[in-house]
Amino acid sequence: MKLVFELTRSGRGMSVLPGCDVPEYELDACWLHAEPPALPEVAEVDLDRHYRALSKEAFGVCDGFYPLGSCTMKYNPRVNEEAASLPGFVQLHPLQPESTVQGALEVLHTAGKLLGEITGMDAVTLQPAAGAHGEFTGVLLIKAYHEAAGDTARTKIIVPDSAHGTNPATATMVGFTTVNVPSNEEGGVDLDALRAAVGPDTAGLMLTNPNTLGIFDPNIEEITRIVHEAGGLCYYDGANLNPIMGIVRPGDMGFDCVHLNLHKTFSTPHGGGGPGAAAVGCKDFLAPFLPGPLVEQEGDSYRFVQPAQSIGRVKAFYGNFGVIVRALAYVLALGREGIPEAARMAVVNANYLMKRLEGAYHMAYPRPCMHEFVIDVGPLKEETGVSALDVAKRLLDFGIHPPTMYFPLIVHEALMVEPTETESRETLDAAADIFLRVYEEAREDGERLHGAPFTKRIGRPDETAAARNPLVRWMPGDE
Ligand SMILES: *Cc1c(COP(=O)(O)O)cnc(C)c1O
Repeated sequence: MKLVFELTRSGRGMSVLPGCDVPEYELDACWLHAEPPALPEVAEVDLDRHYRALSKEAFGVCDGFYPLGSCTMKYNPRVNEEAASLPGFVQLHPLQPESTVQGALEVLHTAGKLLGEITGMDAVTLQPAAGAHGEFTGVLLIKAYHEAAGDTARTKIIVPDSAHGTNPATATMVGFTTVNVPSNEEGGVDLDALRAAVGPDTAGLMLTNPNTLGIFDPNIEEITRIVHEAGGLCYYDGANLNPIMGIVRPGDMGFDCVHLNLHKTFSTPHGGGGPGAAAVGCKDFLAPFLPGPLVEQEGDSYRFVQPAQSIGRVKAFYGNFGVIVRALAYVLALGREGIPEAARMAVVNANYLMKRLEGAYHMAYPRPCMHEFVIDVGPLKEETGVSALDVAKRLLDFGIHPPTMYFPLIVHEALMVEPTETESRETLDAAADIFLRVYEEAREDGERLHGAPFTKRIGRPDETAAARNPLVRWMPGDE
């Protein structure tokens, strides 16, 4: 496919800018380029076709089954895009006086209140721009709390090995040392190892739950009790709240702080790196440290308030407002019945698909899962040489986006599958048939699968080079 720059023919194009209706202003020469920029010159119809062709090169949830575990796109109702693009929202300026943005403040206030209720937390900030950013904010609260208490000996954060990779990264970013705790046979936290790890240097624990094995830790209350008894605080990574929302609440399990990825469970699509948002909820005793401003209701009106011992802003203005609008629309539309119903469907779908694959593929933890499960391709690889990568690549030929590969790290040939709550039984059955067909192909001719995919323009790029040295910018003269 050609780049838009290669389609350029001098003099072609179209004019889309309306005439200027304000006096022209001459910029100082020092601000001007010597040459006009080398922008593409393409006729409208060619440009239209170019972008349509580009869009067809991408694969999204609108194209087919997309069971990418852990970071899955869940239900993104299109109608919430309408809500987020209402002119009354998109034309606001963040520096407008409070009295002129009461509706927007009400959105922030109501969204915070409802997400607080869903998580069992007393106060919520909507400022962070992503899940990891929410973790960073939450762990800063934990740090500020210990510092305010004069307890500077607490320098360690405990992170189980089934945690999402951002958890240890967050602890490190905030300046803590990470203490790794292994999983037990069942895929939960090893309680003896946890008891041995806690002490007067424990600032807190970060728990991804359900963890990256798709397992809800049955000892969760014991875990938070052990950490609290040692004087630490408990952080809940609720990026993927979809299997538990409306059913159980982190706040009731003993957690002090939680983040939710609004761009996973709460309706914002998140392909291509954003924008996202994390809601960070905390218990009352951490609320004075929250980033400001927060929105407070006073009679019929709303105003910004600054928490007393705030850690400061973590993002400009009030967060990614459009993402928060979508989350609010999602919560209000599903309501008290719809939210737990969505959670149950997430769990039913994952267990159904796991059961259908279980006879062939080896499950890393063959017991009921939450919203996702992990296939261990290890035994198949031993028998046939076919790896998790080969299976994932072959699925592409059948129009399935591969599951998350080689994660969690504690399962070496991992394929982490999350069907999500919205797929029909027919889609799950069709996907299961394809997974099983690939399994049979591996046993018949494993060699062949090393060459998959067979139908794609790009098969096996050097993924490290693509991630480390991406070529995303074309310059005049480039090949
Ligand atoms: C996706 C995810 C994160 C990180 O969220 P980002 O928005 O990508 O920063 C953290 N924890 C878990 C469990 C996740 O699935």
